[in-house]
Amino acid sequence: MPDMKYILVTGGVISGVGKGVIASSFGTILKSCGIDVTSIKIDPYINIDAGTFSPYEHGEVYVLDDGGEVDLDLGNYERFLDITLHRDNNITTGKIYQQVIERERKGDYLGKTVQVIPHITDAIQEWVERVAQIPVTPEKTPPKVCIVELGGTIGDIESMSFVEAFRQFQFRVKRENFCVAHVSLVPMPKSTGEAKTKPTQSSVRELRGLGLSPDLILCRSEKPIDHTVKEKISNFCHVGPEQVMCVHDLGSVYHVPLLMESQGIVQYLNERLQLNVSMPRPGRFMQKWRNLAKRVDNLRKEVNIALVGKYTKLEDSYASVTKALQHASIAAGSKLNLTYIEAENLEKQTKINNPVSYHRAWQDLCKSNGVIIPGGFGYRGMEGKIEACQWCRETQKPMLGICLGLQAVVVEYARNVLGLKGANTTEVDPHCEDRLVIDMPEHHPGQLGGTMRLGKRKTLLEPSIITQLYKKDEIEERHRHRYEVNPDYIERLEAAGLRFVGKDETGKRMEVAIVDNHPYYVSVQFHPEYLSRPLSPSPPFLGLILASLGKLKSYMSKGCRLSPRNQSDVSSDEDDISVSSLSLAEEKSVIENGNGEKPVNGVK
Ligand code: GLN
Repeated sequence: MPDMKYILVTGGVISGVGKGVIASSFGTILKSCGIDVTSIKIDPYINIDAGTFSPYEHGEVYVLDDGGEVDLDLGNYERFLDITLHRDNNITTGKIYQQVIERERKGDYLGKTVQVIPHITDAIQEWVERVAQIPVTPEKTPPKVCIVELGGTIGDIESMSFVEAFRQFQFRVKRENFCVAHVSLVPMPKSTGEAKTKPTQSSVRELRGLGLSPDLILCRSEKPIDHTVKEKISNFCHVGPEQVMCVHDLGSVYHVPLLMESQGIVQYLNERLQLNVSMPRPGRFMQKWRNLAKRVDNLRKEVNIALVGKYTKLEDSYASVTKALQHASIAAGSKLNLTYIEAENLEKQTKINNPVSYHRAWQDLCKSNGVIIPGGFGYRGMEGKIEACQWCRETQKPMLGICLGLQAVVVEYARNVLGLKGANTTEVDPHCEDRLVIDMPEHHPGQLGGTMRLGKRKTLLEPSIITQLYKKDEIEERHRHRYEVNPDYIERLEAAGLRFVGKDETGKRMEVAIVDNHPYYVSVQFHPEYLSRPLSPSPPFLGLILASLGKLKSYMSKGCRLSPRNQSDVSSDEDDISVSSLSLAEEKSVIENGNGEKPVNGVK
């Protein structure tokens, strides 16, 4: 078996500059060269996994096929590389210590003193080597390159054992199989506009002091940095000028792999890691990404979507939902204009306490073309979500409810259509008169971590708008919930027009609810956002966006097909804006200068 090649991606100066996107872009580029890539994300916190985090801590909790609740960066890898990762692809300090402590209890260390070096550092290296071999594609081909992203920034106390593990690892796997890419910030203070290299110099010095030398330094900056700055970094950081690359703010994340490739990453890695790939022909290489980036830059017509949620102060809390909306908007040829509405602000109580917020929230909701109610936990904002469901149902506003969103739809329907005023979910009110949504006993054994109904499960669909969108009647989507629709109420709800057109294999667990005679009123118990990909948007999201643009009927009548070259060709009452081809010069200028848009995930 050929040796596994490792690219360790570390961060310098500050976190949150788009290290995850850069690390994923390495994978995208190598994958375009025909290399199978996998990835490991290391989070140095003590938690075993991300499952118990509030979304305000680290953004959303990302869920994998196998039910692993992991860091949202794994979502970047899955989306960029179109791969399926496993729970072990996310390492935390907690997981490593748990393993070592379990071994110690079993007596595996034969009476030795168990220490950070060598026991913890060995456990880290073994974990990385083991997980790197696990196939991540449907074909189950063994990966050739493993990208390891170390969370946080170099110098953090909690990541020290990982840095030390990789210091040893470079000798364990040999030089031609291991390289380090250091992502660092190059600020450009407003006063001079000059690129400052000192923070990068210090962070590289720190990295070196810990025994790791960067092979590539990727400079994150607002604007492109010129060759004198690169030379300065090269001189002060003891690397060749071709090892310093610039990733400045760009119009969309889809430009990042292209920008990195244009600076000779393939040539460099080919040599450094002895990858033996034939050099890509210029022009057609990464054509899919080039087209996607171009299409995104040229979207003009806007679709206004309101997200009614609870963690709206931190956009990362809804990272996958936002990305899935973006994928669907791109496919429909429109630019996503997303407004976050704090669900609580839609509640009657807010009208009394804070009328300005109340009216603003309702105004935002009314101005939208479509509404999404994502998943959530706890009672706060639930009544606001129920209000939004009612308003969308009654005013024919396209709406997609996800997980808690479906539960809100069911409670609203019971209250306002069936007249069961005491209807609620037991998550909010365990003693409510009509328990429309109840907890699943087998998934609630009194411990919070990892005890929900998690991961990929089968849903059987009945002929409906949803089978048309999915183009099949059996689907698999990822789940993360503790509560479910009470089967005792299904007959009454269905008789009153809320149709459950998706159920699990037992037929007892409700997965999809729709209302007919509405442009789009769909809610799902699963989380379709996790399987959405830039080039293959999630069907329920596509349905929402097309309905919001008034294009859904025409899409259905055309056999649910979007042309791959120009996906804005679904007709509507108004004229569509076609995706025009940019000339090479124009494209270069977009890559070099960006198009002045809002930052996406740290990389502008
Ligand atoms: N809190 C709800 C449940 O546990 C919904 C979960 C979610 O939206 N992910 O069932």
